[in-house]
Amino acid sequence: MAVDKAILYDMSKCTACRGCQVACKQWNQLPADHTIQRGTYQNPPDLDGTTWNLIEFKEIHDEEGFRWAFFSHRCMHCIDASCLYVCPTGAIKRSPHGFVYIDQTICIGCKNCVMACHFHIPRFSTDTGTVLKCRACLDRVEEGMVPACVKTCGPGALSYGDRAAMLAKARARVAELQKNGYKRAQLYGDVQAGGTHVFYVLTEDPKVFGLPRRPRVVSKRPISILTSSLIAVIAAAIIGLAGILKFRERGIYGEGGENHGA
Ligand code: SF4
Ligand code: SF4
Repeated sequence: MAVDKAILYDMSKCTACRGCQVACKQWNQLPADHTIQRGTYQNPPDLDGTTWNLIEFKEIHDEEGFRWAFFSHRCMHCIDASCLYVCPTGAIKRSPHGFVYIDQTICIGCKNCVMACHFHIPRFSTDTGTVLKCRACLDRVEEGMVPACVKTCGPGALSYGDRAAMLAKARARVAELQKNGYKRAQLYGDVQAGGTHVFYVLTEDPKVFGLPRRPRVVSKRPISILTSSLIAVIAAAIIGLAGILKFRERGIYGEGGENHGA
């Protein structure tokens, strides 16, 4: 049986070079975004169907002055994955190493997972009609390689390995940071959503990054096979019916919109 793996992101080491953001696009053959200046270095502004890992630039102004806080916004591959529980077709699956991925061949774009995810990760694409998100470089991991983002991270802010080892490494790093005066240093992902497969070593409060202290898991019971099969059949019937109507419409009016009938 495969051992659970995990990615560790240590924000105290991240220089926000965005090498990981680019490597993600490169490995997954996702198109580049046309970027514009919005008064921040963060670009694009949010995750979307073709951006699965986004380095966020948070600006903090408080009694201690001004400071940057960088954050890698991506799927956390939760153990209690709400997205997986609410998917009616079974398109959201767990890999042998514990990562959560969306099978694009059976995703019907219903957006249940978009609404269920407490971390605002899955995004619907109008181009594909499906929902997309990070899949932890499933193809690389299955071949014994590290995810592309980890491979490219120069400062060592990202690391990858057995989940238990990553958890121990994260805890040790938090203790080290606290000892060195980072009073807000803390670990995120050890208990949230049943524990995750992406751990964060944070030096700021999780709320700065929109991370809930106690994320609500939508349901621990996956939708039954019978229910999901029924929904899949209904979805297929709707798609088929739409196709027939479109075909009939073309038959009656032709491509140019003229009525060739009586
Ligand atoms: S972060 Fe969201 S999309 Fe990723 S596994 Fe958890 S619930 Fe699913
Ligand atoms: S590659 Fe490493 S240092 Fe660069 S943005 Fe990503 S996590 Fe930060």
